[in-house]
Amino acid sequence: MENYNTANVEGEGRIYCNCCGEEIERTAVADTYMDYLHIEKSWGYFSSKDLKTHTFNICEKCYDRWVESFVIPIEDNYIEDIFFYSDEEIRLLNEAYAAELCK
Ligand SMILES: [Zn+2]
Repeated sequence: MENYNTANVEGEGRIYCNCCGEEIERTAVADTYMDYLHIEKSWGYFSSKDLKTHTFNICEKCYDRWVESFVIPIEDNYIEDIFFYSDEEIRLLNEAYAAELCK
């Protein structure tokens, strides 16, 4: 594979989906990316990966395909503690969503 930065979620580093290799897109809001799954798993002694840490990112499309393959469906709960954006951030997010829908 290319020289992907798989763990950097801040700063100027690009973030790639480990599954499809596509870059996680930035939004119009500074230092904000389209949502994705970031996993960091440290394996213990009772595994074949003793004391290794695996770190990877999965874009939403790959996440959807992955969880659809599960035999037992995932739980789907709503977030009750909602993060509030400023009016300017909401305007920028709406523009970003509109641009995404027009692709
Ligand atoms: Zn992907």
